[in-house]
Amino acid sequence: MTFILLESVSMLNTIGIPVLIIGALGLIFGLILAIASKVFEVKIDPRVEAIMEALPGANCGACGAAGCAGYAERIVNEGEAINKCAPGGAAVAAQIARIMGKDAGAMQQKVAVIHCSSGGHNNTKWKYNYDGVESCKAAVNIAGGPNSCSWGCMGLNDCQKACQFDAISVDANGMRVIDFNKCTGCGACVRACPRNLIMLVPINRNVYIKCSSKEKGPDAKAVCGSTHPCIGCGICAKKCPVQAITVENNLARIDYDKCINCGICATVCPTKAIEDLLAGMRKKAEINPELCIGCTICAKVCPVQAIKGEIKKIHEVDKDKCIGCEQCVAKCPKKAIEMI
Ligand code: SF4
Ligand code: SF4
Repeated sequence: MTFILLESVSMLNTIGIPVLIIGALGLIFGLILAIASKVFEVKIDPRVEAIMEALPGANCGACGAAGCAGYAERIVNEGEAINKCAPGGAAVAAQIARIMGKDAGAMQQKVAVIHCSSGGHNNTKWKYNYDGVESCKAAVNIAGGPNSCSWGCMGLNDCQKACQFDAISVDANGMRVIDFNKCTGCGACVRACPRNLIMLVPINRNVYIKCSSKEKGPDAKAVCGSTHPCIGCGICAKKCPVQAITVENNLARIDYDKCINCGICATVCPTKAIEDLLAGMRKKAEINPELCIGCTICAKVCPVQAIKGEIKKIHEVDKDKCIGCEQCVAKCPKKAIEMI
């Protein structure tokens, strides 16, 4: 009996004491951690969490932050603008505005546009056969890239891979095409393209330069696989009624803050390097014979000579020629022209 008792005490000593020590240590460390968590607690502003819930979670970086969490923190802690989430658009900006008690401000939706008309394999003229890693960034490092035009699309789809919204596809000619209905304007493709061929433009603008070449006219034509390179002739800049186009380094660029979507530049461009998505869809001018005094101003300002008429006689519009640019409407002193 005494032996069993002694045995039990010895077992208690062997197991019980270490258990007690570990338990006590656990208690002490737990206490230390609890105190430390109180002392070093980083208070998360509930608005950060609310904003993160409102954001779409795309983590695309369009706002300039590394991801949605970073943007939410910047808004709350650094007063960052609340309308910078492109995929979220105006609806998300309005939600954040409510959380922050601020005005959402105007949000201009943008879409990506590829400034190249050669567009990859089928159209581009190749300098050499590239057989390396399927990446534009990799290809551009080998003798400046495989296509003859140093500003042309290499067609290895870095942009397509970067797009989280499935907005970039390749058409039957091998050209990269952006679906404006899917594009959120996040700019991931802009950042991914090593040739800087992609730009974000306001969604309500419909006229684009399809080229990025800075070669002189004949050289641009020689290296471009398409028939539509910008040759820097400046005709578009001369004819633009609002001076929205400048030509620098043999390349035309449109200032979308000035552009009024009239489409004149696309009509006059000799190489058709400018795409006008509204071509043929604008309303046409019509002259009210009761108001027309035959001053000839409309005929003089029409960029495509669609208006005819003798001085002091009623003028007429050739609907087949009219491109709907509204220049005549703007200049008619008698307000005799309507777009129908
Ligand atoms: S990333 Fe640039 S070069 Fe590559 S496929 Fe897209 S537009 Fe072309
Ligand atoms: S669409 Fe009209 S306003 Fe815009 S750049 Fe062309 S010519 Fe100028």
